[in-house]
Amino acid sequence: MNLKDWVLERHDHWWRYLLDRVGGCLLGSRDKPTVDFYSRAGSTAGRGSKNRCRYNLAFVATISRKEFDWVVCHECCHAFAKRLMPDSSSHGELWLWLYRDVCESQRNKYHNYDVGVASKAAPGLRKLLRLAKKMKGLRQ
Ligand SMILES: [Zn+2]
Repeated sequence: MNLKDWVLERHDHWWRYLLDRVGGCLLGSRDKPTVDFYSRAGSTAGRGSKNRCRYNLAFVATISRKEFDWVVCHECCHAFAKRLMPDSSSHGELWLWLYRDVCESQRNKYHNYDVGVASKAAPGLRKLLRLAKKMKGLRQ
């Protein structure tokens, strides 16, 4: 499978995974974010916003697909977090919960982020996270 098709498939996978685990009913729109590719050596691995995820093909070429899969997951979590709570900070509590707890990933070294920004979480976020954890618990 070529690289672009593979990234598109993983992007689909992670978006559906998040919808299943967290619940698409919480989102304004369940539509998956569109995908854009770019190619810039030495740049970031990708960028995720509310309706669009951008993946750096030059970066994919430097690491294994297994490792890049976490980048795809990372960007999908950005899109999902922004849909859930537009005011949530990029690598704040909500994003971290999605990436680390829902997707069971580890912090990865391919993206620099500062967990300290979690303290700037939007008002009401703690409440939402508590509720989400409770819901997750009920389903198990
Ligand atoms: Zn990020």
